[in-house]
Amino acid sequence: MKKFLLMLLFTFNSNAVCVHEYTIQGEKLLSQLHTMNEMTSYYQKKDGTFEVIQSLKKINPSHKYVIQENHPTIKKDYDERYIQYYSYQRMINFMSEVTSRLNSLDYKLEVIGKSIEGRNLYSISPKRIDPKKKVILMFARHHGDEGTANWIVEGFLKKALTTKAFNQKFQIVLYPMVNPDGAESKRRYNKKGRDLNRSWGVSPSKSYDEIRTIQEHLNRTLLSKRKPIIALDMHGSFTEDFIYRVSKSFAGEDFYNTQQDFISSLAERDQWQAGQFNVSNGHKKMSRILLVRDYGINSLTHESIRDIPLNRGRTLNDLTEQGKAIVDTLIELY
Ligand SMILES: [Zn+2]
Repeated sequence: MKKFLLMLLFTFNSNAVCVHEYTIQGEKLLSQLHTMNEMTSYYQKKDGTFEVIQSLKKINPSHKYVIQENHPTIKKDYDERYIQYYSYQRMINFMSEVTSRLNSLDYKLEVIGKSIEGRNLYSISPKRIDPKKKVILMFARHHGDEGTANWIVEGFLKKALTTKAFNQKFQIVLYPMVNPDGAESKRRYNKKGRDLNRSWGVSPSKSYDEIRTIQEHLNRTLLSKRKPIIALDMHGSFTEDFIYRVSKSFAGEDFYNTQQDFISSLAERDQWQAGQFNVSNGHKKMSRILLVRDYGINSLTHESIRDIPLNRGRTLNDLTEQGKAIVDTLIELY
């Protein structure tokens, strides 16, 4: 098994990322500008928000610029070509679908606040944290356009809420759609152009927009009381399914091995993930990095391909099965 994993690591694709992000000197940017996609290339402004590269009127050769090359734009005929886009409305419907099940398991489904455009920020959390159970923390849709992540969350939650072996051991804290405005406008950023997975401060007052609301709730509901056994942040990648983890030097060898245990165990149940991982110590305002660094939580980013073409052997059902695979992995591991 180890040899197999090593081989996968070496054959890993450079498109196995959530976004192509890099820092570039203004001088170099000027010479490369004509090769960049004006619809999907964004630069970061002084206030931290992102805007399309077209609107960058003057480039200072001696400045450094942070660039994000996004996924292709989601067009009107998307659902005819790819696995159905997961919309904000679908999230609302799904929340009402699971309401009675949540009630019977003593969870509360809350609208903890609103997005900038006034959409609901949902959370699912236990009415009371049971000291005998371990807590699983999950986020999805920091990036609005990464719809496949939410199909996996549906599979995860449906299976979790109906599996006795899971409910005897675990409770869930879930933020199923962090960026509903981005989901609705089919873009990565929130309404203000913030990358919400670069918006987590050490405390809510240092965080931005939707993250501030979510972090206040998360601190109050969970982090001030208990340390979750694992945190999973669900995203959509370009061409590969994989897990983002931190390096050995970031949090030590034991921590690295703990992360490996989850990756290896999931690989046995998820043929798409298949043990693939990407070591990245990320951005300091990323949820995964904050949770590892400041709380010592086993926090991983789960990436599945964002645009999955229809009729190529992978279906919506495969995505929900990937969510179920997470449930089985947790039961086995913890
Ligand atoms: Zn993402």
